[in-house]
Amino acid sequence: MATTTTDIFTAEGADNRPNAYYEGATAVIRASAAGGSSHVIAASLAGITPLEHTARTRQYMAEGVLHEPAILTRVAEDGWLMESVGAEQAELDIPVTSRILVRCHPDGFATAREDMQPGDVVRGERFVVEAKAMSRGVFETYERKGFDEFYRYAVQLSLQMEGTGLPGLFAVKNRDNGEVRWQVFRTPPVAMAEIRKRLLLIERGARMGDLNPLKEKCESFPCVMYFLHDHEVGETVEDETIDSLAEMVARARERKQQAEEVEREARGKLREYLGEAGKRRTKTWSVSYREQEGRVTYDTKKMAEDGVDVQAYARKGKGYAVVTVKRLGKIGDGDGDEGGA
Ligand SMILES: [Zn+2]
Repeated sequence: MATTTTDIFTAEGADNRPNAYYEGATAVIRASAAGGSSHVIAASLAGITPLEHTARTRQYMAEGVLHEPAILTRVAEDGWLMESVGAEQAELDIPVTSRILVRCHPDGFATAREDMQPGDVVRGERFVVEAKAMSRGVFETYERKGFDEFYRYAVQLSLQMEGTGLPGLFAVKNRDNGEVRWQVFRTPPVAMAEIRKRLLLIERGARMGDLNPLKEKCESFPCVMYFLHDHEVGETVEDETIDSLAEMVARARERKQQAEEVEREARGKLREYLGEAGKRRTKTWSVSYREQEGRVTYDTKKMAEDGVDVQAYARKGKGYAVVTVKRLGKIGDGDGDEGGA
């Protein structure tokens, strides 16, 4: 597989696009993310920028991509004619519902050169291939538990089987000692109906502003949306200081919302009252209105598509504290949200 450097792939071939995004009204979800943490998909669809991977994680992911051709080469030795696929080629779109599309990139295709075990493969039969490099510990878990512990991979392979109409060949490599194992699947390990239902609920949730639509505990590590996790704050305690300060925050928030409503209404009436004149002055006030043109923004996605290295222009603001106040019950109608401080 040749290394590629288009805009959406890193020099190492890893796909840089978000896990999920909208193209017009269509939600595009990457096959590699479809079985992963639901809140990551929902938050990506909502346009929330994920945490940047650390240099170490980026390197680990890039290394994973570099392992792929070696895995395919090794599997081929067992009697397969292997067609590897460049990272930017063979993009496969699978319509899941009328508004959801899963986008996947098969790692390759394998055709049996002879009849073989395991799986009673017949000469000439063609499979879609997914390859994964794993650390020793993860590899051992996979050997013991298979897809039971790797739902994300199971979903990814199932989607590729669905998209190509081919049976699947899943190959894993222990990156610490180079050992490679492969297995063929006649039936998708996860049924399409299950995947469809899951993605439908996630997308609908995201559209309604629910960033954890399946109420799952996040198992991803490291999670690029960890800042959306409900933080574990320990046991319930009696603390009047916390109660009164949180109450102040909640009430102020409520009053702010009411005040904003009043302000909007008053401005609207003022504008109407000013009519054509546009401005007036009294002894106490000077008021005016004008039509303001919309703000200019830059479509960074389009820029990337046109070959601009958008990341090179990124600027990072100063960090700040986020104080979360969430009412857990009783008095009032406070809903959980966040305020910067
Ligand atoms: Zn998470």
